[in-house]
Amino acid sequence: MSDYKMSTKCVQSGYTPGNGEPRQIPIVQSTTFKYATSEDMGKLFDLEASGYFYTRLQNPTNDMVAAKICDMEGGTAAMLTASGQAANFYAIFNIANCGDHVVASSTIYGGTYNLFHVTMRKMGIDFTFVSPDCTEEELNAAFKPNTKAVFGETIANPALTVLDIEKFAKAAHAHGVPLVIDNTFATPVNCRPFEWGCDIVTHSTTKYMDGHGAGVGGCIVDSGNFDWMAHADKFPGLTTPDDSYHGITYAEKFGQGGAFITKCTAQLMRDFGSIQSPQNAFLLNLGLESLHVRMPRHCENALAVASFLKNHPKISFVTYPGLKGDKYYELAQKYMPNGTCGVVSFGFKGGRTAAETFMKHLKLAAIETHVADARTCVLHPASATHRQMNDQELAAAGITADLVRLSCGIEDLTDLIADIEQALAQV
Ligand SMILES: *Cc1c(COP(=O)(O)O)cnc(C)c1O
Repeated sequence: MSDYKMSTKCVQSGYTPGNGEPRQIPIVQSTTFKYATSEDMGKLFDLEASGYFYTRLQNPTNDMVAAKICDMEGGTAAMLTASGQAANFYAIFNIANCGDHVVASSTIYGGTYNLFHVTMRKMGIDFTFVSPDCTEEELNAAFKPNTKAVFGETIANPALTVLDIEKFAKAAHAHGVPLVIDNTFATPVNCRPFEWGCDIVTHSTTKYMDGHGAGVGGCIVDSGNFDWMAHADKFPGLTTPDDSYHGITYAEKFGQGGAFITKCTAQLMRDFGSIQSPQNAFLLNLGLESLHVRMPRHCENALAVASFLKNHPKISFVTYPGLKGDKYYELAQKYMPNGTCGVVSFGFKGGRTAAETFMKHLKLAAIETHVADARTCVLHPASATHRQMNDQELAAAGITADLVRLSCGIEDLTDLIADIEQALAQV
């Protein structure tokens, strides 16, 4: 499917039915798979043959949907995970172990920040957080001899900073490590990080890809561009024999395009089992079928809402990378010329209290720990997703106590603006 345009890939990639087969992706609702002989099955366990034996590791429905996302991103291999959290954990833990170090942008999703800064530190992995706006010198200075990856978000949730992908890719590659980017907010419809030097993409498919608030999920896509063997000493997990699979070496057996995802499935999915349910993968695919139609509408509504708020006397600031004059407007134009995302954040002259009053009076926009849904939703990060952070950490993540994150859905724009207007009148 890789020669087709994005819209066609959204609708058709990943599954082509044969004669008399179902038009829609079949949900393979089965934990296990039958084989004629133990020998057949043994080959699967040894990674000598490809196939399915247990849905904790792999399932055909999941693989069809992963293949679609892989095609959309322009990668060589992909896998679904149970959540975006699992995707980011797996993507990093697949190459960074106890004693290793990772450089990450400081303005990442609060859940990912906790995962890295608290939980993965307990596993002995060290993180250095750098501002996405840092100079090349500052970025290079963050690397250590044991650095194994660089991590950032195309558009950060909820800080809405835009990552200078080329700058981060250049630094990562100069130090012989891959750049991993969480592309949740932009989606491949608006940005394909591999085209700018990124090596591995992750997604919380819970957001725009599903798009209907129906299923939590994640995805990891490998570009196939990172040469593990050229940096063999840094990535022994990929370049030396795996004892749990009779001594196979992933980078040799599965090549540059397949090693990362095969290892991630064979080791991490086997041992942690954060697999997406085939039912959720089916729902995710329904969402993907209209992603290219929904994204422009999300962006159009968000840009109009951002412009409206920008001129409102009760609003102290508006952050939207698609808005002219925004700090990240130029970077957004470079990496996402067709639109960024549907999320706008803004602050109130009346501070935290004004933010809370505004939220209470919204009628269409619902207060939810969610974004990137067809329905407009709204969140106060300082009292929800980011409440673990102290003021200093909040500031580093680009969040203030009066900040409200509004995720514009695909409803009629005039209704959205009217809802915002009446809630603002109560402030
Ligand atoms: C929501 C989100 C995640 C976490 O994904 P879940 O599916 O909720 O586990 C990770 N990264 C970004 C950018 C997100 O918005």
